[in-house]
This record gives sequence, C-alpha cells and structure tokens, in this order.
Amino acid sequence: MFFNENIETMSRGDLDVLIEERIRYTVKYASENSPFYKKWFKEQGINPSDVRTHEDLRELPIISGRTIRENQPPESPDFQFKSVDWKDVFTLHETSGTSGNPKAFFLTWQDWQRYAEKYARIFVSQGLGHEDRVIVCASYGMNVGANTMTLAARDIGMTIIPEGKCTFPLRVLKNYQPTAIVGSIFKLLELARKMESENMPPQESSIKRLVVGGESFAEESRKYLAELWDRDVYNSYGSTEGTMCGECTDVSGLHVPEDLVHLDIYDPKLKDFVEDGECGRIVLTTLLPVGAKSGTLLLNYDTDDTTVVVTRDKCACGRTHMKILNPQREAETFWVAETPFNRVDVERGVFQRENMEYLTGEYEAFLYGSDDEGETIMRVSVECLNREKCNRKAVEENFLRAFFTYKPLLAEAHADGRFKIILNFASLKDLELYSIKGRPKRIVDRR
Ligand SMILES: [Zn+2]
Repeated sequence: MFFNENIETMSRGDLDVLIEERIRYTVKYASENSPFYKKWFKEQGINPSDVRTHEDLRELPIISGRTIRENQPPESPDFQFKSVDWKDVFTLHETSGTSGNPKAFFLTWQDWQRYAEKYARIFVSQGLGHEDRVIVCASYGMNVGANTMTLAARDIGMTIIPEGKCTFPLRVLKNYQPTAIVGSIFKLLELARKMESENMPPQESSIKRLVVGGESFAEESRKYLAELWDRDVYNSYGSTEGTMCGECTDVSGLHVPEDLVHLDIYDPKLKDFVEDGECGRIVLTTLLPVGAKSGTLLLNYDTDDTTVVVTRDKCACGRTHMKILNPQREAETFWVAETPFNRVDVERGVFQRENMEYLTGEYEAFLYGSDDEGETIMRVSVECLNREKCNRKAVEENFLRAFFTYKPLLAEAHADGRFKIILNFASLKDLELYSIKGRPKRIVDRR
C-alpha cells in the first residue's frame, strides 16, 4: 500500500515540523555550497539562519529558468547553481528550453535516490508492485524521468521494459505480457489504434493500468483513453527540477511529496501566496534531509506552471501529503479579448465524446490577427479517422460549446466577431505537427 508509510501517512503537525527543519537545513546548505546563494546572502546582508519557516522563503528571491541560464556558461564563467564538487556529481542533465541555451542540472547519487523514491511512492500509490512488468515509453536521454523511474522499479521489485518510445513492436506485448505502460496520453491513444488495426484490442491485452504524464491534459482525453483501453489511467507530473507528484488510486488530485519538495502557490505577479483552492504559479524549493547533499539546489524556483491546492487533509488512500490539480503550463496560456485560455481548454473541445466517433484526438491550433486589429482568428485542425465521413457540423458544435463553457467573455467576443474560430478537418497524418521533431507544440501563436 505504501512505499514509505511513516513519511507518507505522517500527521499534518509532524509533517510541518519536518518541512520546516528541512527548509532550515536546505537554506543553510545553499548559503554554504551554491555560489549563487553564497553571493546573494552576502550582498543582501541576510543571515541564512533567519530563514526559519516556509513563510520566510518569501524574503528570498524567486528564480526562474532565465536566472539559471544567466548564471552558467557562456553568461558566467562557471555554474553558479552547482552546489557540490565535481567529484560528487553523478550525472548531469540539460533541460530543453524554448531558447537556445539549455539549463544545466547536476545530480548527486543521493539526488537520484530521492528522485527514485518519489517515483516509487507514486507507483505504489497507483497499485503497482513486484509482480508488475512496466513498459516505460518516456525518453531515456538527458531527461531524468525515465532513468529515475527505472531505479524506482528496483526499489519496488518490479520489472521495467525500457522501450523509451511508444512505437515498440507489438510482439513485446505478446511475448512479455506487461501489466502497465508509462506514456503520454496521445502516444497511448496512438498505440491503442495500432493494436486495434493489428487485431490485438487493447481491452484484451495483459495491461492492467496506464500511467500518463509529461504534459497537462483535459479530463475528457483521459476519460477517452480509459474507455479505449478499458483500464484505469493515473496521472503523474515530473520535471528535471525534481517535482514528482502523482495520483493515487483515489484519483482526486496529485500527491506532492511534501518532505522532499516544497511547493508554494503564488499569485501571477509572484508577490504573495494564494489561498488553497485558488489558482496560482507553482514555486518550488528542493527540500534536503538534514546532512544530505544536492547537486543543484533551487530555492523559490518559478516552474512556469500553474495549479490549485485541492486539499491538505488526509486522502482516502491514507496519505496525508497535499494534493494539487493537474498543473498547466503558463507558456500554453493565451490571451484573446483580455481573457486567458489554455491549451487544455482547446483539448477539452476536441475530446467531446461524440467527436471521438470521427476524430483521432490529435489536433493543432494557430492564432492569427490581434485584439488591436479588432479580430483574432484561431484555426483548429483536427485529425479525422475518415475525412469524408466526418460529421463536421456536429464536431464544430461540440467543440464550440465545450470550449466556451467556462469562458463567457470569449463567447461574447466570438458572438460579436472579435474572435473567429475556424475548424479545419485534416486527413490521417496530415497535421503540421507530424513533420516537427520533438514534443509537438499544439497551439502556435502567430500574432
Ligand atoms: Zn491518495
């Protein structure tokens, strides 16, 4: 039931005491071992031992991916966020960025063990154990996720089939009778279609559950994936910076490993915390157990993702660690007629159940024009199972109804012509994203 029962079911009071002890140690460690923080504390004339509680973290600067880039070669002679000697660095990673210069990230062996523990807790909370054989369709490159998931499997005693991609030959399913797959929603939808076409219906496979992650998604798309496979689908959220959160079998939010990762949710201007239940930006602080070492220490790191704290009360699964909603990327939020919408809102429109009789679920959208010019156009291309037989009128109506449900101001702009939405019906494999390497950008702002 639990990977680390003592920690995962610790009472709120004890957990808060542990968190504050680790905040004090982590801040001290940063001030002594990270060139960036050493300099910062000196320049500000702040004594690191004055940072005692999580509220005190507000006095420290909020750093971003940009801060890291500005404090590493070629911008600075060395890696200002590297917080151990080279002899203690086990691996180094680069996180992809939108700009050309990737962020360097250093991990000690202890960091690996903590990352693996976070994944191990998630897997066990989803019902996985030593009898499971799990295909990992996350990439094994410079991303740390797939590798640390594999280490987690060693600690649980489960078997990993490290495919790295979801395009593995179907004999893998036949020969090894795997019980779970880790992958993205879209890759697992594609796999299901491939299985259907080769007369191996996913509902009849040995797979017992699916673990998805890698990007945010609409609940509708998860529901559809669960229906195609006739299996439970559990969400996970991870990053090289170490935020590994996951849904338990209660599926009521993602548990945050609060003893290892401290998340504060800030208002959009990053000035103050927001209340639980309110949406805000995720600001992350690595938490180190007293005496531990970390290769890259982040205090108040702006993840560029937004979420809501659902609850800090005990979960039906027995875990006491807080739960958050599936985070959304701030970079995938767009503004039209002074109203924000996220890629997930577009995805919700696509994945309306009736639409799935005609669509694969793959889509891409482009924004043109501008509010200044008085007209914004969003062109949404959806991939049809059979372009000729697609009921375009129904798909369009379903899309618009779902997309505008929580967006009355956008609906108004649509009604009076300031916001036009054009649906384009594409044949199989005829979306632009198929010709792009790497993670597809589903909404491209061409304004
Ligand atoms: Zn739970």
